[in-house]
Amino acid sequence: MNNFDPADVLKALHSVLPRQGGHIPLHEPDFSGSEWAYVKECLDTGWVSSVGKFVDRFEQQLADFTGAKYVVAVVNGTAALHVALKLVGVEPGDEVLVPTLTFVATANAVSYCGAHPHFVDSEFTTLGLDPCKLATYLEDIAEVKEQGCFNKNTGRRIKAVIPVHIFGHPVDLDPLVDVCQRFGIELVEDAAESLGSYYKGRHTGNWGKVSTLSFNGNKVITTGGGGAILTNDEEMGKLAKHLTTTARVPHQWSFIHDKIGFNYRLPNINAALGCAQLEQLPDLIKWKRRLAEKYQEAFAGVAGVRFFVEPAFAKSNYWLNALLLDDCFAGQRNILLAETNTQGMMTRPVWTLMHELEMYRSCPRMDNLSVAKSIERRLINIPSSARLGGVNV
Ligand SMILES: *Cc1c(COP(=O)(O)O)cnc(C)c1O
Repeated sequence: MNNFDPADVLKALHSVLPRQGGHIPLHEPDFSGSEWAYVKECLDTGWVSSVGKFVDRFEQQLADFTGAKYVVAVVNGTAALHVALKLVGVEPGDEVLVPTLTFVATANAVSYCGAHPHFVDSEFTTLGLDPCKLATYLEDIAEVKEQGCFNKNTGRRIKAVIPVHIFGHPVDLDPLVDVCQRFGIELVEDAAESLGSYYKGRHTGNWGKVSTLSFNGNKVITTGGGGAILTNDEEMGKLAKHLTTTARVPHQWSFIHDKIGFNYRLPNINAALGCAQLEQLPDLIKWKRRLAEKYQEAFAGVAGVRFFVEPAFAKSNYWLNALLLDDCFAGQRNILLAETNTQGMMTRPVWTLMHELEMYRSCPRMDNLSVAKSIERRLINIPSSARLGGVNV
C-alpha cells in the first residue's frame, strides 16, 4: 500500500494554482470578451426582455457550435429538461431512468412531469451512467410491450433515460443508444455540463431526440441564468419554441394559446451575454484543457490519489476537475476538503446521491449502486476556472 499524505495533495495543488492573493473559487465566469458591449446595447435600445435580436443570434451560434439543427434558448437548464421530457412524451405515472450520481435538477425535472425517477448506477471510466449494467438490469426487470417498455415490479411504463455527462465527460453513448432501441426507451441527454465536449468527434447532445444545456453562473459559459433545448428534429424544434413561449398562436393582435405552455423564454439581455460568451468558448475550452493537463502532471506522482482523465472516446471540456482518492483513503476526504478550503483553494465533494435524498428515497432503483457510491465517497472537485489554465498563470 502506498503512503497517502494530504500534504502531498496540497503541494500538487499549489504547484498548479497561483499562490498570491486569497481565495481561488471552484469555477469563475470569464467576461473578457464583448459582454459589456452587448449588454449595454440591450440597455441602450431598451430591448432587455422577451423580444430582441440576441435570442435568435444566440440560438444560431449554439446550433453552429454544437451541430444541432434546432436550438431553443430558455430560462435555465432545469426548465430545458422539463420541456425536453414533455417533448419525448413523458407522462404522469411514467418512470424515467436517471443516474443516482447527478445534480438534483435531473431528477426534479422528472418529478415536474408527474413521473418517477428510477435510479441507476454509474461507471468508473466516465463517472456517468453505465450502459452495460443498464442493459443487464432491464433484461431482468423490464418487459417490452406494444405500448412501450414496462417495469415488471411497479407496472409502470419506463419512458425515457437521462444520461448526464458528469463534469463534462461524455457518457458512452453508442451502447446506450443500442439499449434504448432494444427496449423502446427515449434518450434525453442532460448536457448541462458538457458544452464543448465531444463523443467520438461529435458534440454531445446529438444522440437522443432532444437534449439540454445550462448556462448557470458556474457552467462553462454563463448567461447569468439560462439553458437550451437541442434537437435535430424540425417538428420537435418548433414544438419546443412553442411550448416555452406560452404556446401562443401567432397573430397580429389576438391572444390565443393552444396548449398549456410555459414562460420559459430566455430574456434578450441574458442572450446578449451568451453571444459574447460563445465567442470566447473555444479559448475557454483550450485553457480548461490546459489546466487539466497541468493537474494531470502534478498528480502523476502523488500516491493514493488520481486525477480523473477523460475516457478514450471523448474530448472533454473538463468543466470541473476531479480527484479520486484510492478506496482505502476515502476516510481522509473530509480532512482534505477542510485543509484545502482553509488554505483558500475551494474544493467540494460531489452531490449527495439522489436515492439518499429524503424525497427520492422510495423511488425505484437498482439494488446495486456500488459504483456511484464509491465515486461519491472518494471524489473531490478542485478549482477549475478557465483563467487558471490560461494567459494569466
Ligand atoms: C447545472 C445543471 C442542471 C440545471 O441547470 P440550471 O441552469 O441550474 O437549472 C441540470 N443538470 C446538471 C447535471 C447540471 O449540472
